[in-house]
Amino acid sequence: MNLKPIFENTDRPIQILGPCSAETEEQVLATAQQLKDANAKVDLFRAGIWKPRTRPNSFEGVGPEGLQWLKKVREQYGYKITTEVANTQHTFEALKAQVDVLWLGARTTVNPFSVQEVADALKGVDVPVLVKNPINPDLKLWMGAIERLYNVGITRIGAIHRGFSKFGKSVYRNTPQWQIALELKRNFPDIEIITDSSHICGNRTNLYEISQFALDLNIDGIMLETHPNPDEAWSDAAQQVTPKFLQENILSKLIVRKETETDPLFLHNIEDLRSQIDLIDKEVIQLFADRMNLAEKIGEYKKQNNIAIYQQGRWSDILEKAMEMAQPKGLSEEFINRILKAVHQESIDHQEKVMQGKQENA
Ligand code: PEP
Ligand code: MN
Repeated sequence: MNLKPIFENTDRPIQILGPCSAETEEQVLATAQQLKDANAKVDLFRAGIWKPRTRPNSFEGVGPEGLQWLKKVREQYGYKITTEVANTQHTFEALKAQVDVLWLGARTTVNPFSVQEVADALKGVDVPVLVKNPINPDLKLWMGAIERLYNVGITRIGAIHRGFSKFGKSVYRNTPQWQIALELKRNFPDIEIITDSSHICGNRTNLYEISQFALDLNIDGIMLETHPNPDEAWSDAAQQVTPKFLQENILSKLIVRKETETDPLFLHNIEDLRSQIDLIDKEVIQLFADRMNLAEKIGEYKKQNNIAIYQQGRWSDILEKAMEMAQPKGLSEEFINRILKAVHQESIDHQEKVMQGKQENA
């Protein structure tokens, strides 16, 4: 795939700012005015016109009328405009209003029929499109949506990383799972990726931290929702902030890291640290292999004595001990849990092979 950039003449980070939804003409124009007053860099002004809401009877967007308000923002403030499209009709309406960039929402990316419908409506129109990650952590689905657009001739495609849905309570509304965004970049090295901190956070508290983390990972830009009166917003009130707050407490505080450094001393030190890491990785792999050997020995022993592989008591014991050791070393509970579960599964697989051996010989 040979993608062209959407955002060429702008410093990093790319900034996509605006309300979750267009509610009234006054609200849309006030948001733009306040962004201008705050001196915010607006690479794209966002507002949802058609809102995919989780449950019915919520506000579902003002429809095409809102496109006229966005056009006014472009005329009066010179900001390029973007909105979400999810079907043929949305796409035609947005194209008619000459919306500069379209975006596909998470609930659209998840459905290849919908993505194809929008892609078909875009055949022959080389408008830039941003593709949000699907709701579920499925890299291929995200890539597939991008490929469907590319296949109809769209050459300027970007990605928006808005986090992934998770059952139950968590600090984030949508967990970032940064590795999926980084994997997307590894597969499509030319793609520009924007992190949508607002939909990852779901509240106002962590917006700065998530946005800075995105920049630390060399993500190209950020999308943030802003509203003149956030508490009164008709959608996503809890995560919106005023344009003034956004500029003063988030955007102006962000630090952009350089992609690479050429200073020889810096390179030398980094190389040194990296070789230490490589060494540790080597040792970790050897330790895993040793652990599996022991697990196989236990498997052999269990086989001889006809004992089940899985022992709940033993497993809880391992987890508990590991948590106790890990906590004072600053390792997160989630990390230890994930690593140990993977190691435990691998041990079970090794033991299972030993057991199967018994059946084969029997
Ligand atoms: C939005 O950007 O307002 C939106 C609906 O986001 P998502 O598709 O990421 O849920
Ligand atoms: Mn929103």
